[in-house]
Amino acid sequence: MIPAHKINLPSKIIIGHGVLDKIGELCEKLGFHSHNGKRTIFIVTGPTTLKIAGNRLMHTLEDEKYNVSFMEVKEANMGYVNWCQDEMIEVKPDLVLGVGGGKNIDIAKLASNELGLPFISVPTTLSHDGIASPFASVKGMEQEHTVVAQTPIAILADTEIISKAPFRLLTAGVGDILANLTAVLDWKFAHRIKNEYYGHFAAMLSQQSAEMLLQNYEKIKPTEESVRTVLEALITSSIAISVAGSSRPASGSEHLFSHALDFLGSEYALHGEQCGVGTIMMMYLHDGDWQQIKKALQYVKAPINAKELRVKDDKIIEALTIAHKMRDRYTIINSGLTADAAEHLAKNTGVIE
Ligand SMILES: [Zn+2]
Repeated sequence: MIPAHKINLPSKIIIGHGVLDKIGELCEKLGFHSHNGKRTIFIVTGPTTLKIAGNRLMHTLEDEKYNVSFMEVKEANMGYVNWCQDEMIEVKPDLVLGVGGGKNIDIAKLASNELGLPFISVPTTLSHDGIASPFASVKGMEQEHTVVAQTPIAILADTEIISKAPFRLLTAGVGDILANLTAVLDWKFAHRIKNEYYGHFAAMLSQQSAEMLLQNYEKIKPTEESVRTVLEALITSSIAISVAGSSRPASGSEHLFSHALDFLGSEYALHGEQCGVGTIMMMYLHDGDWQQIKKALQYVKAPINAKELRVKDDKIIEALTIAHKMRDRYTIINSGLTADAAEHLAKNTGVIE
């Protein structure tokens, strides 16, 4: 018997220049009419994103006769998730908006999910695929890696705002998408060795979104057009995750390497940047075209080695040897790399000297 498998997808995705002002219209279309002040919308944002987008959203919603409450979060930890929930219990909102980069969106996603409230993702940066996926990751959870929360019911992505964010964030997003290439190979591997469920359609969707960027990396520039390309790839990748019902299509051994770096205290590099370097190395293990991935990352000025990640060479080797212990996920590094093998891998791919 095939077990029940639920697929939740965002029902409305609006991408474009200045679309932030369409928030009222979006709420209406989703069935949340203002009823002249009877509906409350709760906004989770951060200090910078409040200025960039939060305030504008609040004024637009108030003009359209919604009650608006907001909470400013500074860090992605469980303390803020709980604090948000307490506020939401008090305010009783009808809808929650997560406005910002990964952190604010993850907190909004987790807090709203616990209370059974629908949530809209309003990204101001594109540094990783959490903006559209059902997964969230904050510090202080029982599991250190990501957990299933909920898929946003809608995504409102203003390319004008996102294109003004530092270019580094966009290229980190590229790294998180290229990670799909090794994640899918690892998934296939787990299917062959462990008979783990493998969704062909989800795998293809995820792989295609990465291939598309890999073939067009020269077009990735700090422009609204590039923002749109990366955004569409991130959304496609998130849809693959939703279809698979797990993060398998977008998270394999390269993510385990990134989690291991986090575990060892890497502070400077972003999640997508670490995953990008992980993808170069894991593709080498899979005997695939790792040089092409390296070339693409280098072209968009994303880190391709230890120095650029600001991690010491020995930490890269240590991360490679412990990565398989980061979570119960069968990948090409499942039995663990010896220190010698890790050193060869990192040297042969130019990650360390
Ligand atoms: Zn990721």
